[in-house]
Amino acid sequence: MPHQGNTPAVSAAFPLPVFSECEARIDALPPLAVPRSSALLSELPDRRLFLKMLAFPCAAACVMALARDSIAVPVRAWAAVEEDDSRFRVEARFYEKLPGKMVRCKLCPRECVVEDRNRGYCRVRENRSGTYYTLVHSRVVAAHVDPIEKKPFFHFLPGKQAFSVATAGCNVNCKFCQNWEISQARPEDLPARYLPPKDLATLAKDNQCAAVAFTYSEPTIFNEYVTDAAESARDSGLKTIVVTNGFIQQAPLKRTCQRVDAIKIDLKAYSQDYYRDVVRGQLQPILDNLITVRKQGKWLEIVYLTVPTLNDRDGEIRDMSRWIKTELGPDVPVHFTRFMPLYLLKNLPPTPVPTLERLKAVADAEGLQYVYIGNVPGHPAENTYCPKCHNLVIERAGFTIKQMNLHKGKCSKCQHPIPGVWS
Ligand code: SF4
Repeated sequence: MPHQGNTPAVSAAFPLPVFSECEARIDALPPLAVPRSSALLSELPDRRLFLKMLAFPCAAACVMALARDSIAVPVRAWAAVEEDDSRFRVEARFYEKLPGKMVRCKLCPRECVVEDRNRGYCRVRENRSGTYYTLVHSRVVAAHVDPIEKKPFFHFLPGKQAFSVATAGCNVNCKFCQNWEISQARPEDLPARYLPPKDLATLAKDNQCAAVAFTYSEPTIFNEYVTDAAESARDSGLKTIVVTNGFIQQAPLKRTCQRVDAIKIDLKAYSQDYYRDVVRGQLQPILDNLITVRKQGKWLEIVYLTVPTLNDRDGEIRDMSRWIKTELGPDVPVHFTRFMPLYLLKNLPPTPVPTLERLKAVADAEGLQYVYIGNVPGHPAENTYCPKCHNLVIERAGFTIKQMNLHKGKCSKCQHPIPGVWS
């Protein structure tokens, strides 16, 4: 079984062993909440066919938008589904009302304009009579106790555990998505548990976790849950981390930064063409948001999933590294992670390890100080070295810490400060 980075350990399918490592304590909570299927869903033969059927209007909206060289505005893209979702439904925090009971979502750069009884591109926000709602507050479809190194964070609470949760939905559609069965689903498509913020914090503590992580799908589209749960986590003495594509508007990002402790952003390429063709998103908002997270003083790490032939050119990595060094600083950790053929990119091979080593060398040569190789367990580039004396500061094997030569945030040999959140 290939190493797969930040996927839930059970499976991407989540038939329901989703809380595997913490089943006993979860069982102490109120009974499992399984949303009732709609009449429409019950008529469908299976979910894959259903998703294919729904793919058409979405694809049509994308084609129209791309023809205008803008992001999709999928009015009527996703129809409402009748179900009792009152436990999970909370009014959205970032939207504006428009004439004719329409709304414009202001959470991510898509700015979906949505008619009454319809949903935005991410499938989890619905217009009901001119009021816009998130349908996934506390609606957890995947949860697991993970090492923080799996997110990956290498300079944030090394060796600690994160209680990691996700809801359905995403605001992009990456062709390589390793969690597509939840990211490209609607809330009704998946069994879920009702896990309000206080219960989430309690579970995290009961499972000896130092942090709560919002991950696996896309935390942007369940932003209200993220920020509410982060406040509860903080009250309980826990830290909060967000693993995101960074495709969010500035106002909700700043509000999020005020409540969470660390953010990992997937910089999926340094090319707008790649973002348009492979991700169905935009590059510039991600760059702007990287700068914002840094300015807000939140701990930031960057992951660059290296896809053979699509984003693995030296020149692209050189340009990206120069931008990171100039705009963010040389000490932001950058992880070049290994791609595995999944979802819509099964035609490509896993990233050759020499490719990852070549790109790391390019980034090193541009002056980035903490460049890692990920999804290659046991590779020496999983380790942290002091940029001044080159001493081994943290030795890792996969998600395990083998040794730490770090004292009060400094290299124990030369006392050079190593940036991060260490306790
Ligand atoms: S968060 Fe969802 S509904 Fe809002 S603009 Fe983005 S894709 Fe559209």
